[in-house]
Amino acid sequence: MSKRDYYEVLSVGRDASEREIKKAYKRLAMKYHPDRNPGDKEAEKNFKECKEAYEILTDSSKKAAYDQFGHAGVDPNQGAGGFGGGGNADFGDIFGDVFGDIFGGRRGGGGQRQAARGSDLRYNLELSLEEAVKGLTKEIRVPTLVGCDTCDGSGAKKGTSASTCGTCNGAGQVQMRQGFFAVQQPCPTCHGRGKVVKDPCNKCHGEGRIEKTKTLSVKIPAGVDTGDRIRLSGEGEAGEFGAPPGDLYVQVSVREHGIFVRDGNNLYCEVPISFSKAALGGEIEVPTLDGKVNLKIPSETQTGRMFRLRGKGVKSVRSHAIGDLLCKVVMETPVNLSERQKELLREFEETLGGDSKTMKKHSPKAEGFFDGVKKFFQDLNS
Ligand SMILES: [Zn+2]
Ligand SMILES: [Zn+2]
Repeated sequence: MSKRDYYEVLSVGRDASEREIKKAYKRLAMKYHPDRNPGDKEAEKNFKECKEAYEILTDSSKKAAYDQFGHAGVDPNQGAGGFGGGGNADFGDIFGDVFGDIFGGRRGGGGQRQAARGSDLRYNLELSLEEAVKGLTKEIRVPTLVGCDTCDGSGAKKGTSASTCGTCNGAGQVQMRQGFFAVQQPCPTCHGRGKVVKDPCNKCHGEGRIEKTKTLSVKIPAGVDTGDRIRLSGEGEAGEFGAPPGDLYVQVSVREHGIFVRDGNNLYCEVPISFSKAALGGEIEVPTLDGKVNLKIPSETQTGRMFRLRGKGVKSVRSHAIGDLLCKVVMETPVNLSERQKELLREFEETLGGDSKTMKKHSPKAEGFFDGVKKFFQDLNS
C-alpha cells in the first residue's frame, strides 16, 4: 500500500513552519475526529494518516530524514513504537498525547480543563522615518481566528448545544488503573472539557472559531522606533469555545531614510559645503523633518565638523524629551571648473606659498601631518 506524501496529507507546503504544520493538523484532526464521525472508517483512516504525518513533521530529526529519503527514511515499522500501518490504534492513547500536545499539555489535578485562551498574534509593521516620528493611524489586515458567529463560539450546530460528556459524566477527568495505582487523566473523549459537541456547527466544523482577515485601525504614537511593540488587547486569535481572545502585538520597524540616520532621539545627517563657504563662513540650508532651516557656518570651518541643532531631533514616545539634529558638514572639491576658475585657484594657490611657514599659517592640519610623515620616514631609515 503506497502512502501519501506527509505534506500533502496536511495540505501544507514543504517549507511550512512548525506552527503552520500544527495548525493544519489541528484543523484536520478536528474534522476527522472519531467523536465527530462515529463508525466512519474513512474518517478514522484519515485521522490516523494526519496524526502520522504530524508526528513525523514536528520531530526535527524524523522530518529531516523524511525530507531526504521520503517514507523510506521514517518507516515506522522499522522504528520502535511506530504507528503500525492499518492496526487498531488505541484512541485513548492517541488523544492523550496528540491533543495534550496541541492544547497545552495534560493538566494536572482534578476538575475540568478551561477552554484555552486564544493565541497572541504578531504583526510586523514597517514605517517610514517620517511616519514613525510624527505618528499616524494605520490600517492593517490581519489573518486570524474569530469566534464563529453561526454558533456563537460553542461549536454546536444552531439549535443544539454541547452535551455533557458520557465518558466522564462532565468531570473532564477519568480514572485509569496503572498497576496498583489509580491515576486521574484528562478524559479522552472530551479532552477535559466535560462536554462534547454531538452535532457540530457546519460553519466552523465544531471548532467554535473560523479563519478571517480582520482590518484594524492601529494608532501609532509619535516617536516610535524599530523594536517598539504596540499591544492591541483582545485583538489576537479568538479563544477555544468562547474563551477570551489573545492579544495582537504590532511590531514596528522603521525603514532606512535617504538623509537622516536615527540614534535614539537624535538624528544625524551630512550636508555638503563648498570650499569657499567653509573658508569664508556663511549660511547653509539644512534639512530637518519639519522642513529646511538655515545654519550659520563660521569662517574656517573644517570638513567633518558637527553642528548641533537643538530640539530638531525626535520626540521620545516615552519621556517626551526631544532629541537634537546633528549635522556634519562635508567639504566638497569643486568639479567641472572653467579655465577662468582654474586660473583663479592657481593664483590663489600661489598666494599660499609653498614653504613651511605659510603652511603653518593656512593649513592647521597639514603641519602636524607632514611633521608626522617626516618622522615616519626617519624612523624607517634609522
Ligand atoms: Zn460555528
Ligand atoms: Zn469527558
